[in-house]
Amino acid sequence: MPFSKSRARSGRDSAGAELASRLDAVTKVYGRGPGTVTALDNVTLGIHRGSFTAVMGPSGSGKSTFLHCAAGLDRPTSGVVHLGDVSLSGLNEAKLTELRRSRVGFVFQSFNLMPSLTVQQNINLPHRLSGTRAKRDWQREVIGKLGLADRLGHRPAQLSGGQQQRVAIARALVTQPDVLFADEPTGALDVRTAQQILMLLRSIVDEMGQTVVMVTHDPVAASYADSVLFLTDGRIVDSMIKPGADRIAEHMTRLEVHR
Ligand code: ADP
Repeated sequence: MPFSKSRARSGRDSAGAELASRLDAVTKVYGRGPGTVTALDNVTLGIHRGSFTAVMGPSGSGKSTFLHCAAGLDRPTSGVVHLGDVSLSGLNEAKLTELRRSRVGFVFQSFNLMPSLTVQQNINLPHRLSGTRAKRDWQREVIGKLGLADRLGHRPAQLSGGQQQRVAIARALVTQPDVLFADEPTGALDVRTAQQILMLLRSIVDEMGQTVVMVTHDPVAASYADSVLFLTDGRIVDSMIKPGADRIAEHMTRLEVHR
């Protein structure tokens, strides 16, 4: 199973398999008093290293909050988040920023590249920001894998949407993060380009052993994952292993109708 709900030792699940990310009883409450919203409600799960997980759910079900808490962009109100074997709870802001730069990769719908920098400079950015040295062999492998070797001197505006997203994925991978978090990574792409990006994410997991967690509302995109988690009202209400797009779409419709 690519994820586990059972309680675990830090960095491992109860069967001893390595976890890239772990949430223990994570709750996130926004606001105070009568306007309080529980965006995540006691979520416990572990993401296995080298797995591809899709997170789905109706609008407002807590997908972004889940991603932000798991990635250390937002702090839970209660509960504990681990990245690898590091607990994020005890870290101050500076340490958390450092950890995000070195151990987490992000890919967004809108690519978020620096327009004034070349492809190579964009890919180097995480190392530049953290003052660390790139591992040359790994960087070459990533650039080759993403098909960017002949684009390194280009600027983002000279590239298609699919190429820009490939640069964003290369940038997210360059530090060999514990987890690559992707938020609707194909939302701005046409169907064919989206398919290419999803196949790339799949091969990053299968061939490079990376861990990918992707929020999506698209059943076809989710069908590329090993497992699909369904959130409703801040809780994980269901999960599926290797489901097809039709089954996912059917399940989403059921969740939306029963809200
Ligand atoms: P999703 O990504 O599934 O659409 P979100 O995680 O964005 O869901 O939101 C979950 C719930 O938390 C929603 O009810 C949303 O309105 C609320 N929420 C999200 N962010 C904030 C915030 N910064 N302040 C107050 N409420 C928020």
